[in-house]
Amino acid sequence: MATITIDHLVSWLEAFRGKVADQASYLTELDSAIGDADHGTNMARGMTAVMGKLSDKPEAVDAYGKTVGMTLVSSVGGTSGPLYGTFFLRLGAAAGAVAELEAGEFAAALRAGFEGLLARGKAEPGDKTMVDAMGPALDALDAALADGADLAHAAASARDAAAAGRDATEPLVARKGRASYLGERSAGHIDPGAASTAMLFEALAEVLEG
Ligand code: ADP
Ligand code: MG
Ligand code: MG
Repeated sequence: MATITIDHLVSWLEAFRGKVADQASYLTELDSAIGDADHGTNMARGMTAVMGKLSDKPEAVDAYGKTVGMTLVSSVGGTSGPLYGTFFLRLGAAAGAVAELEAGEFAAALRAGFEGLLARGKAEPGDKTMVDAMGPALDALDAALADGADLAHAAASARDAAAAGRDATEPLVARKGRASYLGERSAGHIDPGAASTAMLFEALAEVLEG
């Protein structure tokens, strides 16, 4: 596969919606250990709202990012909403008014989204957040593309790196978000946002594998 179309971008989020809905109780269980037990319901509600809005198919990636981002900001009802929302808003703004993206353009748009999320949440790597899954995923995607991999293989590398990043949050002490209120007691649990981000990259790999 050479380019990413709006259809791919919509299918990506339909696959993500399916995962957060199917695994909502797992995400909420993770959040009950170190948060307020709502991450699964937050994400399932947000992604259902997103797919409702996307039934009116956007014509360009900027419009897609705006619709997805604004819907997440307004419907998730947790810290994760504005963070995922900013990610998609910035992804769309970086891509612009185009109907498809080359692999490198898509990677750059994802990177811009991640930078927006970092600026909004001010988390750093190792703070036990979704950043710990997304950072390694994007690094792996960029590295694979630089090595000449196609998008499907690069997305598979990103998925594996996101899963490893999610698992690596388990021993960490949280320094951002609700989990940070627990201090040392936050160690020993996987971060719920890192777990949902790993699902975002599983969904991407599935859709790009075709
Ligand atoms: P809330 O904590 O408001 O109930 P959620 O439960 O939906 O929101 O989301 C919690 C997740 O949000 C955490 O597991 C973590 O991954 C992520 N998170 C929280 N604060 C930040 C932050 N400042 N930067 C990045 N991610 C964060
Ligand atoms: Mg929560
Ligand atoms: Mg909450």
